[in-house]
Amino acid sequence: MSVSTAAADQTVCTPLPVLGRDVLVPLVTGGEVAYAALDYAASAPALQRVWDDVAAYAPYYGSVHRGAGYLSQLSTDLFENSRATVAEFLGCRDDDQVVFTRSTTDSLNLLAAALPADCQVFVFETEHHASLLPWRDARVNFLNAPRTPAQAVETLERALAARDPYGPALVCVTGASNVTGELWPVRELAAAAHAHGARIVLDAAQLAPHHPLDIAELDVDWVAFSGHKLYAPFGSGVLAGRADWLRSAEPYLAGGGASRKVSRRGDGGVDVEWHTTAARHEAGSPNVIGVYAIASACKALTEAGFDSLVEREQRLVAKVREGLAEVDAVRVLSLFGDDAPRVGVISFVVDGWNSSHFAAALSAEYGIGVRDGLFCAHPLVRTLLASDPQDPGECGAPEAEPGERSLNAIRVSFGAGT
Ligand code: PLP
Repeated sequence: MSVSTAAADQTVCTPLPVLGRDVLVPLVTGGEVAYAALDYAASAPALQRVWDDVAAYAPYYGSVHRGAGYLSQLSTDLFENSRATVAEFLGCRDDDQVVFTRSTTDSLNLLAAALPADCQVFVFETEHHASLLPWRDARVNFLNAPRTPAQAVETLERALAARDPYGPALVCVTGASNVTGELWPVRELAAAAHAHGARIVLDAAQLAPHHPLDIAELDVDWVAFSGHKLYAPFGSGVLAGRADWLRSAEPYLAGGGASRKVSRRGDGGVDVEWHTTAARHEAGSPNVIGVYAIASACKALTEAGFDSLVEREQRLVAKVREGLAEVDAVRVLSLFGDDAPRVGVISFVVDGWNSSHFAAALSAEYGIGVRDGLFCAHPLVRTLLASDPQDPGECGAPEAEPGERSLNAIRVSFGAGT
């Protein structure tokens, strides 16, 4: 069997070159069968352009913000220009802040730490654990899985209408599911949140690599995403949006860079004045290369144009779904139904197969790298598999024996480099 990474017709748009493909294919296959890494939803390979930009800068990097030397100044410029590039990529409003973090998980935990006192949080049980779990110290309302986008809006509206109308409230919602790839009605959910005096944060970990994002147009208050899913390497992420809650919160990390002035008090203690800019939450020496890589990826995607990327990806989605539909034993997982718009993330189960064994066989026998498990969205996958939503199985644990109904799933995902 011959498996090719260039599965789609390339007359309209070729994939963006990704780092390491030329090396990986012969390494994994001995040059006979191309290796298809269809696990972009976990981490997308860095684009060659990102790698080139980072390699060109790497010999010159220096500590940002505090150095007088040329390399420090160069690095400070690149770092702050990267912030401006990300702000432009996200369509930020004038008074929005772009805070660099480690990842989406880190961004949402930062926001959780910055919530005003008595904030109520509304989150669907279908969220990735990064969106579901950071709000443990707040008053969290977990909303039941909706079965249509309209039901999602109705469910949120009902919950918000029943809340204490005077306290602060935050809605956290994903833009595209990391399990089904389905798009959530972000604009409508944002309108519902604002109509009830709540704010909204968009988990764009899966949306940002596949769709243009515009904070102002979507009218969301914050957006969070990760570099390693946006075709940059690991270790950097973004929280962008309204400055007020961030500005008045305690710094996420206490330390140098976040503090403007530190002085000893007469009583022996220490007084600190914290920055009110994004630096407030970026204490310590930042990941300058990671941040530069995110900005490079944002530029590469903008220059390539999302229209052609989306068009190509949609053809791949259709092709994979058609192929899966031909196999009776395959059931594709979907919350909103077959016609729901989605990004290049498709999860399925195969009757009679343990998903972990199936995924291992795809890799070993056909050179196709996919993911199996519950994808850090346990309640959602259990709802979709119609198994016990309260069963505390572990992420990725092979729970069924061959021949039994699978209690986890297989996920195929692709993106700009596929
Ligand atoms: N949100 C969604 C929808 C995701 O798919 C993921 C990762 O898979 C995350 C958040 C967490 O991203 P990270 O692991 O980069 O923090």
